[in-house]
Amino acid sequence: MNTAIDKNIAHLVKALRTPTIGRVYADLADQARQAGWSHEEYLAAVLDRQVTDREANGTSLRVAGAHFPGIKTLEEFNTDYQPGLRRDVLAHLATCSFVAKAENVILLGPPGVGKTHLAIGLGIKACHSSYPVAFDTASGWANRLTAAHHSPTGIEAELKRLRRYRLLIIDELGYLPFDSQTANLFFQLVAARYEQGSILITSNLAFGRWGEIFGDDIVASAMIDRLVHHAEVLPLDGESYRTRTRRELLTDKDHQTK
Ligand code: ADP
Ligand code: MG
Repeated sequence: MNTAIDKNIAHLVKALRTPTIGRVYADLADQARQAGWSHEEYLAAVLDRQVTDREANGTSLRVAGAHFPGIKTLEEFNTDYQPGLRRDVLAHLATCSFVAKAENVILLGPPGVGKTHLAIGLGIKACHSSYPVAFDTASGWANRLTAAHHSPTGIEAELKRLRRYRLLIIDELGYLPFDSQTANLFFQLVAARYEQGSILITSNLAFGRWGEIFGDDIVASAMIDRLVHHAEVLPLDGESYRTRTRRELLTDKDHQTK
């Protein structure tokens, strides 16, 4: 071990902010000497470890920062339970090109069919693709927008701040109706993000009933207009996955005891 060189490397990795290199270079150098790597092969191995670590750290920071209510992946989603769901569309959404293009996703369907699961799964894909994501329920967003509206800097500052999130997920729109001020704040959010940043919405109510959520058919249709202009609308249906799996478990047990 050459301490002068080690000290110099320690200094350089600090200046470069590449701590992984500082951690791995000596072990990889031993490996390189034993395996007879070229200088280029050694350099590539060292840089590869740094990039891999940085990407993993970035993704886990984004996943933590998104505040998902739990971790659900697209890979865990069983499309056999959703025969009407277009797999090609889902596979395309999973590439996150919709986020790059500031397009929206709307997942519609009754409770328990996997809307939140898909929303989180797509959100995690976006985190992997380096896009900052923010997840909250519609009521959560309503509270945040209302608080911003009453703050000294106002809703404008909040909408500007939210621009840093390339994907906003609004879960469970429709469970609770909004008063007219909240409806108006939601409209401002949708209008501000139009062609600027993606929104993913899950709702138990078909578009025809969004007037009930916003207390006004005109506000609702102006919002739907902007949302669906560049959007993938995925209707989910069928029985609740929870009820269905529970029933299947019970039937399996029946079969076994017979
Ligand atoms: P929704 O938001 O539509 O009410 P959720 O996404 O919360 O439904 O789904 C309810 C539960 O069932 C969750 O634990 C979810 O992971 C699971 N689930 C729903 N659909 C599927 C599916 N097709 N494959 C795997 N798990 C599913
Ligand atoms: Mg849900």
